[in-house]
Order: sequence, then C-alpha cells, then structure tokens
Amino acid sequence: MIDKVKGAFKGKAVEPSSQLVATTIPRSEHQVSRQHFSENALKVLYRLHNSGFQAYLVGGCIRDVMLGAEPKDFDVTTDATPEQIKDLFRNCRLIGRRFRLAHIVFGREIIEVATFRGHHESTEEGESKVSKQSNDGQLLRDNVFGSIEEDAQRRDFTINAMYYNIADFSIRDFAGGMQAIVDRKITLIGDPETRYKEDPVRMLRAIRFAVKLNMSISPETANPIKQMAPLLANIPPARLFEEVLKLLLSGQGLETYRLLKEYHLFDLLFPQLGPLLSQPQSKEVKFVEQVLTNTDNRINTGQRVTPAFIFAAFMWYPLEERCQQHMTEGGLNHFDAFNLALNDVMHRQIQRIMIPKRFSIPIREIWQLQNRLPKRYGRRAYQMLEHPKFRAAYDFLLLRGQIEGGELFELANWWTDFQEADESGRKHMLKVLREQDGGPPRRPRRHRKKPKTSS
Ligand code: ATP
Ligand code: MG
Repeated sequence: MIDKVKGAFKGKAVEPSSQLVATTIPRSEHQVSRQHFSENALKVLYRLHNSGFQAYLVGGCIRDVMLGAEPKDFDVTTDATPEQIKDLFRNCRLIGRRFRLAHIVFGREIIEVATFRGHHESTEEGESKVSKQSNDGQLLRDNVFGSIEEDAQRRDFTINAMYYNIADFSIRDFAGGMQAIVDRKITLIGDPETRYKEDPVRMLRAIRFAVKLNMSISPETANPIKQMAPLLANIPPARLFEEVLKLLLSGQGLETYRLLKEYHLFDLLFPQLGPLLSQPQSKEVKFVEQVLTNTDNRINTGQRVTPAFIFAAFMWYPLEERCQQHMTEGGLNHFDAFNLALNDVMHRQIQRIMIPKRFSIPIREIWQLQNRLPKRYGRRAYQMLEHPKFRAAYDFLLLRGQIEGGELFELANWWTDFQEADESGRKHMLKVLREQDGGPPRRPRRHRKKPKTSS
C-alpha cells in the first residue's frame, strides 16, 4: 500500500503543514477503496451525502487503510449539525457536552459523526464561554462549528488529517499526511508547543502512534515533550485512565513504556513508581518489564487481560516501600503498615490516574492475597483455591517469585504444585509443610458448651 501511495504521490508538491492547503488526490491516484470500510460507515456517509450534506471519513481509519492495517473504528465528519444528523438517523444518540457528537448505533458497531469543528478559544475561560452559550444553538454553532479546513487544523498529527470524500471518492490531504505516511513520520499540525499546551494528551498520542504505527516522531514534534511533560498533571485523571489503557493494552505495552520513560512521561503518569525505575537492572525495572511482556503476549495470543493486574504491579514496589516506612518510622506491625500503605499508595495514584472501582477493588484483593498466600496450613490452602481472585493473585506471586527468586520463588512453585496435585498429593504437601515449619500453634479445640435449655 505504501508503495502505491508513494507512486501516487510522485511529483506532487506537499503544502507545508502550517499553511494547511488541501491537496486533493483523485480516486484514480490512491488505493483507498470502499471495500476497506464497514457497511455501516458507508450507509452513514451515503445518507448524509444524499441529503445534501458533505460527508467524509477522517482520521485513524484513513491513516490505517493507507498503512495496510484494518481500521479500529470509523469516524465521519460532516457539515450537518448534530440536530440535522439526528433527524436523518433513527438510531442516533447525541453525546458530549463540550462538543456535541452523534453516535449512530448499529448493534455493536457505533459510527461517530462529528460536525466540522471550527476555531474557538482554548483557554479555560473561553471554553466556559462556549458551554455557557450552548443553550443558544446559533451561537454555539458560530463558535464551535466550522469549515473542513478549520476542522483539519484542529486535528493533532498530519497523518490524522486526511479526509475521504464520499461524493467523489477522493482524498483531501490538508497537512501532508500522505507524505508523512511514506516517510513514516509523526508530525503535529501547527506549532508543537502551542498544540501541546492546548492539549497535553497529544504528547501521549505521539508516543502511542509512534509505537503502534512503527513510525518515528519528527524532531520538532519530539523536542518539546520532555520539557512539557509536566503539563500532563493538568489533565483530568479520568481522561488519563482511558489514555493509559490505550497505551498499555495495545499489545506493544513494553515498547510504549520504554518510550514513555525516554520522554519523561512515565513519571508523570506513575509518580510513585517512576523514581524507583532509575537503575536499568533493578528488580523494579525487571518486574515492570516482565508484567508488560506477559501482558503483550497475552493480548497478542487472544487471551484476556485485566488492567487491575497491571496497575497492581505498577504500585507494588511503592506499596512495599511505604509499608516498610510505616514499620520502621511509625513502629507499626506488618499487617497495619501494609493496610495503611495500601490506602496511601492508591490514594496518591488516583490523584493522577482515576482508577474505577471495578479495578481498584481487585487491585486491593491481589495485594492483600499476597499476604495470605504464605499462610497455607490446612483448610486455608483449600479456601485460597476457591477465592475468586486466587488466579490473579497466584499469577502475581509467580511474577514476584520469578523476579526476586528465593523464598518467593519456592512459595510460587508450591502453589503451582498444589493446584496440580490430586487430593492425596495435596494432603501430603500440607503434611510436609506442617512437619517442616512446625505449622501454626495448634489451638486447643474448643468444645462448645451446650446451651442451657429451660425446661
Ligand atoms: P485510534 O482510534 O487508532 O487510536 P485515531 O487517530 O482514530 O486512532 P481517535 O482518538 O479515534 O484516534 O481520534 C480520531 C481522530 O480525531 C484523530 O485521528 C484525530 O484526527 C482527531 N483527534 C483525536 N484526539 C485528538 C486530540 N487530542 N487533538 C486533536 N485531534 C485529535
Ligand atoms: Mg479512531
């Protein structure tokens, strides 16, 4: 596909990104065909077009098709307003408060349709002004909606500002995206510092696309990142959670993590773990890299992964460190120190990345079970096997054992054997354990007194 693009592009002058003058590539000169798009996306495009509106596919889907990859989803952009879109589609939901978007729902597939976005002030004050006026349809339109040219200027990277026109199947390339695809370059549209200030998440997106698309970040786009990384602290934690999932669950989490570290972005996302990762061969680095390697393998072989496991791992060494601190400085016993540390570490992390309850609860369980896994006597071992989070906690222990060796490694192996053993094997293992360690002090059996019955 790239060769085709290259061929199609021979001899064409590419406009510099700051000027944003569109190059139109007619259907005969590019390889993006309707076959690459979902039926539903095409339905939406045609309905808009047949109703007299402009309709384009834009962004990731065009970029991915050009790269020979299958698009993840399809984004449509149009000059129809959200209300006009709603009138055209029965299966339409309007969403978003700041920027109203239409979702056209086809069973499990959702086609997102956005009205061309125009310029508006990006300061906090400016945004609130816009949302204040959101009751006034006319003004809102004036302020937020715009032309396709303006829409292109507001997009992040040159490779994401190509529009496929359903009217004549041509592609409008506003910022030299085709050339950037040939050169395999991630380049921001406009002045990089201004664009990062407008939305610091673009720094994370640059890293994500560089890894996902196997491209390099052009120097002017890469250079400001290290210095501007602290701006990420201004992003709402809920949005960062979504971004971090995309970064770590891409199937290339390890590479992404390394690049995030290189650009000083990782420390901003995980402020407690970051400082522990300065020594390349430390157990902390090995642990994090192993978690990501395993996660990538699981994703790439179609197995399930849960973000809870990764987050539990990313906070584990900060948790151990904090626990130790509570013990030595606060004189607490391990149990109390651990529970206090667990709350501290979680609390600090969610200041930066919001972790929804459906993940924070299992994270705590995985941690707490690490303390229970060494206590395996008698019934406890069987109860542990039944615990809904046993599997995750065991995998976690296995990883710790792999990295730290010693007793942890032996403990992890014991649990592996115990799961595989039959009933008599298990009984034997528990007997050996009791003989080795002497077991916990046996509590004398208490005989319950028969309650007195009044006759
Ligand atoms: P993928 O869906 O494969 O992760 P994508 O490029 O489609 O990649 P989306 O987040 O779906 O990414 O966004 C769709 C399009 O919206 C992008 O291609 C880009 O044009 C624009 N866009 C998304 N986020 C931003 C942003 N933070 N700033 C400017 N434009 C953005
Ligand atoms: Mg997308």
